Amino acid sequence: MSSPERSLEQKSAGGRNGFPKEVEAEALAIVQHTANEYEQKNPENTAWVRGVIRRIDFREFQLMYGELAQKAGVKNINVVQPRDIYIRDTEGDDGGDADYDPMSNAMTMDGDLIAKARGPAPFEEPKFRNEIFAVSLILHQIAHEYTHATGYIGYGKIDLDDGRNIDAVRMGLSQALFRTEDPGNDYYVMFDLFNEGVTEHIAMMMSREYLRRSPLSMPNGDTLESAQFEEFLALQNDEKDDYGAAVEFFGKISAYLAKECEVPQDLVEKAFIRAYYRGEELPVVLLDETVGKEFSKMLMRAKDSEDFNDLVESYILPRASNSLIDQWKRFFGFLGRRIK
Ligand SMILES: [Zn+2]
Repeated sequence: MSSPERSLEQKSAGGRNGFPKEVEAEALAIVQHTANEYEQKNPENTAWVRGVIRRIDFREFQLMYGELAQKAGVKNINVVQPRDIYIRDTEGDDGGDADYDPMSNAMTMDGDLIAKARGPAPFEEPKFRNEIFAVSLILHQIAHEYTHATGYIGYGKIDLDDGRNIDAVRMGLSQALFRTEDPGNDYYVMFDLFNEGVTEHIAMMMSREYLRRSPLSMPNGDTLESAQFEEFLALQNDEKDDYGAAVEFFGKISAYLAKECEVPQDLVEKAFIRAYYRGEELPVVLLDETVGKEFSKMLMRAKDSEDFNDLVESYILPRASNSLIDQWKRFFGFLGRRIK
């Protein structure tokens, strides 16, 4: 069997590239259809969520993300307009709590989940369910999906060894390969959870920054306090989902590479973020050489927190050779630059 692990050629630094108009229109029609169905069944909740979205200053969001991308040398970011944020119901196993769809350039949010978050609290966990929790959830989900949307996105065809020509999407540090004509159904994502770890890391940074810059008023008239938002983040962290494991893993590998390259961890994290925005591929060869061939293969294929934990526990990250460290430094852009 030919290896599906190959890569979509990068056409330009940053932004969203390569989607044919008819692909976009078709994908958007599906998103809108699902959202219309939800709204007809749940008009009150849809209106409530839209009310919260209206209170969010999207110019500030665009500004913040523009500044982050600029640090990576990317001038023009892709943005999602608030009208392209749609409310839907809880999807099957595959659907996330919220989603960014690169095909339609639209975001969707699970309205049922937000309705539960609003309370009143028939639910035991998490400990509190109310407007503060629901508004925090919406802000954080938008920051997470906005991160996906503003990072590098490329769509195109790649050739496989067996002669087939298939569709592929690269998003941030991940790459999805569509093995059939139907992009929604049969796909395979490389570095999915690693990419989610970086995305969630950025989302936490940006949602906090948003509250620092711009007060967010809730439908009840109160302002969402930073301390309340921190409480929400802590509760989410307690639930320790796949994303939690992914963020932890991103921290671990950054700490290791920082130690080996003798630079602050913060700089390694920023270098990964830079690659995420520019669309530079994860250096698979370097990962292989650093921690062994199976590692990057497993990292590519890690699907849930269990995979991740196995991966982190079973690999001892050894001291890297000088030449390897030089290669990492080159990828991170640390060579020939003064480290501040
Ligand atoms: Zn995500």
